[in-house]
Amino acid sequence: MAENAKVALLGTGIMGAAMARNLLKAGMEVRAWNRSAEKAEPLAEDGATVAEDPAEAASGADFLLTMLSDADVIESVVGEGALSVLAEGAVWLQMSTVGEEGSERLARLAAENNVAFVDAPVLGTKAPAEQGQLVVLASGPEDVRDECEPVFDAVGGKTVWLGGAGEGSRLKLVVNNWIVGLLGVLAETISFARATGVDPQKFLETIEGGPLGLPYAQMKGSMMIEEDYPTSFSAKLARKDAGLVLDAAARKGLDMTVAAAVAAHFDEAIASGHGDDDMAAVYVAATAHG
Ligand code: NAP
Repeated sequence: MAENAKVALLGTGIMGAAMARNLLKAGMEVRAWNRSAEKAEPLAEDGATVAEDPAEAASGADFLLTMLSDADVIESVVGEGALSVLAEGAVWLQMSTVGEEGSERLARLAAENNVAFVDAPVLGTKAPAEQGQLVVLASGPEDVRDECEPVFDAVGGKTVWLGGAGEGSRLKLVVNNWIVGLLGVLAETISFARATGVDPQKFLETIEGGPLGLPYAQMKGSMMIEEDYPTSFSAKLARKDAGLVLDAAARKGLDMTVAAAVAAHFDEAIASGHGDDDMAAVYVAATAHG
């Protein structure tokens, strides 16, 4: 089934549009839907069928792939009749970042509709999505794993199969806490350099190539220094992920002061109009106010 599998892809934003193109390149049939139709329509040139609504996309599909902003949005979009019209034995590949509680909630929704659910958030941003080099963190029933592989191989360079349902989302949150923390301390470090008369470019050059010089710091740090934030991953979605980390930590009675502080920085950057900019715009909240 896999090569000519029918994939209903809901959400053709930065990540979903790139994933749709890679599914098409792999020879799969893609029916794409997006709330703002103008973001789905260009996919027709690549061979996708652009659907009018989620149920039209999902009708008879072997896979339902969701790549939407958060669990509430997914629940309402999928709730528009998409789960009941899938092909017999279809699998829902939930690849958005929805956190622990969100993944549990969507898994319940799938179970209520007798649809197999694979929790499969991804690591990697716009460029890896375009190159089909995402890392898929998948967890779900053993008996559907083989059939999911070709879809994951089309969008990703590596699939990590984890144990029980929701484990992928929990690992994704752990990674995202690392990213959120890095971004926060990078923003403050560049701001601190400037405030103390140190050229922040010299900081990046000093750490480059050594164990401290993460390529990520070079990439996001350069955006902060130039104060130019073309979006790979928006500040508002990064703030959502910081919130998911804090929620999951609170469920375990864990106090995450660094994540909370960076979340507050994101709130400030978003309030000053940078929500749709890249998450590197958190820098605006870390610059001197006095
Ligand atoms: P994006 O470009 O902002 O796309 C978000 C998608 O959600 C769009 O299709 C958008 O539709 C849709 N959406 C938002 N609110 C909606 C609503 N109320 N009703 C219906 N649709 C709605 O985001 P993205 O970067 O592709 O991210 C998608 C998911 O992947 C998120 O969960 C994100 O956290 C995760 N992720 C992103 C990255 C990254 O680097 N970008 C990496 C890993 C994981 P419209 O176009 O109509 O707004």
